[in-house]
Amino acid sequence: MAFEVPPLPYAADALEPHIDAQTMTIHHDKHHQAYVDKLNAALEGTEHVDTPIEEIIANLDAIPEDKRGPVRNNGGGHLNHSLFWEWMSPDGGGEPTGALRSAIDDTFGGFDVFKEHMTQVVATAQGSAWAILSYEPAGKRLFLQQLYTHQDNHLIGAVPLLCIDAWEHAYYLQYENRKTEFFDAFWNVVDWSDVARRYEAARTTGVATS
Ligand code: MN
Repeated sequence: MAFEVPPLPYAADALEPHIDAQTMTIHHDKHHQAYVDKLNAALEGTEHVDTPIEEIIANLDAIPEDKRGPVRNNGGGHLNHSLFWEWMSPDGGGEPTGALRSAIDDTFGGFDVFKEHMTQVVATAQGSAWAILSYEPAGKRLFLQQLYTHQDNHLIGAVPLLCIDAWEHAYYLQYENRKTEFFDAFWNVVDWSDVARRYEAARTTGVATS
């Protein structure tokens, strides 16, 4: 079965005014679709067409060498975007609570400091990149990093809890060259309940949940 773009869990205009409908529609219907189409084309005829995308990305060495580059880029794009839609909500924003909040406070010295750090991580990315908050099961800790393109620089075994898309296609129609305004707006739509659910699953089992 071929990979498919999951439907947005809310209407395309639901995140306005923070992210407008045109940006969401083109990002989801065109850019994400293109990653899925290219991923399916690269995997066609291989034994990996039914493998979950998380497993494919975690085991890229299993992909035939001539397919590995396209699968790495487009599979990473498909996985990140599938998560990205779920990390946002029209009911989002505010601050995390509970165990996740305690971990953020302990690791970063407070929620405002964490937000500033993650915004800096994404704002200082050169070219196409993501900022990612992950849980690292071996050290039982949260950490931030830049993800180049869609998955380069990702620490093996780290579980993504929250990503910010810093590719130009994520904001340029609405915010043009003012990308830091987009990053500021993003905090108003973060679904902390989803982030907390992933944190609970990761620290309980050490692996990602879908
Ligand atoms: Mn994107």
